[in-house]
Amino acid sequence: MLPELHLVAAARPNLPKLAALWHALAEGPEFCKPVLLHTGQHEDPAMFGVHFADLGLPAPDIALGISGGSHAVLTGRSMIACETVWKSRRPAAVVVAGDVDGALAAALAARKLGIMVIHLEAGLRSGERNLPEEINRRAIDAISDVLWAPDEATAARLRQEGHAAAAVRAVGNAMVDTQLRHLAAARAKRLPRGLTRGGYGVVTLHRAGNVDKPERLIALLDAVSAAARHLPLVWPIHPRAAAQMKSFGFVPPIGVRITPPLGYLEFLSLLCRARLVATDSGGVQEEATALGLPCLTLRSATERPITIAAGMNRLATPEELALRVAEILKAPSLPVRPIPLWDGRAGLRMREHLQTLLEGEECRAMVA
Ligand code: UDP
Repeated sequence: MLPELHLVAAARPNLPKLAALWHALAEGPEFCKPVLLHTGQHEDPAMFGVHFADLGLPAPDIALGISGGSHAVLTGRSMIACETVWKSRRPAAVVVAGDVDGALAAALAARKLGIMVIHLEAGLRSGERNLPEEINRRAIDAISDVLWAPDEATAARLRQEGHAAAAVRAVGNAMVDTQLRHLAAARAKRLPRGLTRGGYGVVTLHRAGNVDKPERLIALLDAVSAAARHLPLVWPIHPRAAAQMKSFGFVPPIGVRITPPLGYLEFLSLLCRARLVATDSGGVQEEATALGLPCLTLRSATERPITIAAGMNRLATPEELALRVAEILKAPSLPVRPIPLWDGRAGLRMREHLQTLLEGEECRAMVA
């Protein structure tokens, strides 16, 4: 019987990364049985369900249904549920992606059961040590047996932090694999009525630091309104931002087309023909950079400095946003600069590494 590999999907941004590995495994030699485990952190169809079909993933094999509550409640309940599953159905390894609470919970539960933990998208650091995502990514890296980094600089940082060289592997950017796989289909989709190629910008906002405090959120809404005087904007609104706007009694910014959260393909089809994007999303910074789309990141730091070094991303305060949008509109479009290991082959590298891990002595030594 083939050993099981459990891929832990908790929230929306996990799916494009896991999909890269899932498809690489499906298309290569059969040495393990991939099993999709959904913790339930994002459960609503618009935030999660639609993405399975878009990304060519089957429905989860295991659905824990754990969502809501504080960070501690969500993490604790997810840990208990994962442990219950893995006590009766023991995988050879567990892959967790990114930095959400469900990923931390799964990593902790697996590690304490002596199951090999692999962190996909390891090593990202924004330096904001009090942010939940930064806490999670550092904690997951600290207990993982295998650290799959998206680029060489990130892998080097992990080694400098003291992680064993053998545990760290620069496999490439899994998001880019998924983007390349779906780009033609996304480009073939019709744009929503009234939008023309290069004639609009996209906005996404969801981080607690941006949407949970009324003074920050109102500053951002004003900024988006001011930016919309330069360029029509489309904002697929995250449920967290929508709920906070409602609870503070804020109205949507003028000149901005608000939509519900979009499926992966629909969002990519919007992004790939936009003139720019203003966001606080980690994944969107990478997706924009890979597309050669100017990105303004509405945060004071990013865990993805490679997007800034590539010349595609810039941090912006709410006060600066409109000015930066105007500058981008005046500047000529930049050519896409290829980033090493953002080449659509991350899935392949993960698969090859996994095969040596699961078939070799290395596996037994690591979890001993
Ligand atoms: N995304 C999507 N629909 C949307 C907005 C974003 O499918 O309406 C996708 C986007 O393409 C990216 C992922 O969601 O792959 C990023 O997730 P999110 O911004 O929620 O989280 P983060 O990357 O900040 O952790």
